Amino acid sequence: MYDDGYLTVAHYRGKLTSRLSPGERLPESVGLCARALANAAPVLDNRVRSNEGYVPGFEETHSEVCLPLISFSEPLGVLVLDSAKADAFDPEEIHAMQAAADVCATAIQNARHFERARNLANVDGLTGIYNRRYFEQRILEELERSVRYKGSMALLMIDIDHFKKLNDEFGHLLGDEVLRQVSSIFEQHLRKLDVVCRYGGEEFAILVPETPGNRAMGVAEKLRRMIEGWNFPGVPRPVTISVGVAEFPTDGRSRDELMKAADDALYQAKQQGRNRVVAAHRTASDLQPA
Ligand code: GH3
Ligand code: MG
Ligand code: MG
Repeated sequence: MYDDGYLTVAHYRGKLTSRLSPGERLPESVGLCARALANAAPVLDNRVRSNEGYVPGFEETHSEVCLPLISFSEPLGVLVLDSAKADAFDPEEIHAMQAAADVCATAIQNARHFERARNLANVDGLTGIYNRRYFEQRILEELERSVRYKGSMALLMIDIDHFKKLNDEFGHLLGDEVLRQVSSIFEQHLRKLDVVCRYGGEEFAILVPETPGNRAMGVAEKLRRMIEGWNFPGVPRPVTISVGVAEFPTDGRSRDELMKAADDALYQAKQQGRNRVVAAHRTASDLQPA
């Protein structure tokens, strides 16, 4: 596959002994593959051993055909056929082979478009972090994982304090910028494993897998302090957040239970004066039996 100026081995099949492993980069601008891609035309060589520019992909190769994978003028990669026999490929069949490669190129391009569209559907347009739709799927997956591995997981529900007032005072555009910066602060100060989502307006939901509740409280408190201390350009006073923290399995065993627990805790944080982190109320009797 071609990416960023390089060809890398994506996959191979067959009985020949490979000299390259998947993921390995092919030498640049040499070999039949590079030629096929550069000329956007198939290359056939039935006697590769006598070809000086040949870079062997397999130990036993004597014949090789390189078919460029191109879709709408975009080079995607090369489909390579190798044979241990000399004179294995019929030059008259090269057009038929290229036609098959063209079908492959279209399929690869479609798969990429699909992947891109699916990623876009999961991302919030304003902030670039995951959206609610993604959150709602992901929390189910993470709960399943936690059940399977008997792990713990925490959910942080976060709401910016008096955000309506901030909009009214400084304008909606600045409000948008604050949302973007808050999102980026969250992302930068959490682990790769954690899932940061914009749940709606000025509300965020963060999944913190493999984390017992007391550590999650620490994480939430760190975020609260980061935001409080952040100097948002154009906002001459601190911006603050309130956070509700619920833990699986103590505060809830299903998505709905866990979200309700975190939401209730967030409500308590608002009631108690905002700019604070509150843990969900742990009353086992609130929970349904497992
Ligand atoms: P509280 O401390 O109780 O949370 O008060 P609040 O003002 O933050 O809460 P409220 O729910 O009353 O207001 C939320 C505001 O968030 C209202 C809405 O205009 C604003 N908002 C929601 N989405 C966006 C957005 O995408 N951009 C901007 N700039 N503002 C938004
Ligand atoms: Mg709100
Ligand atoms: Mg708010």
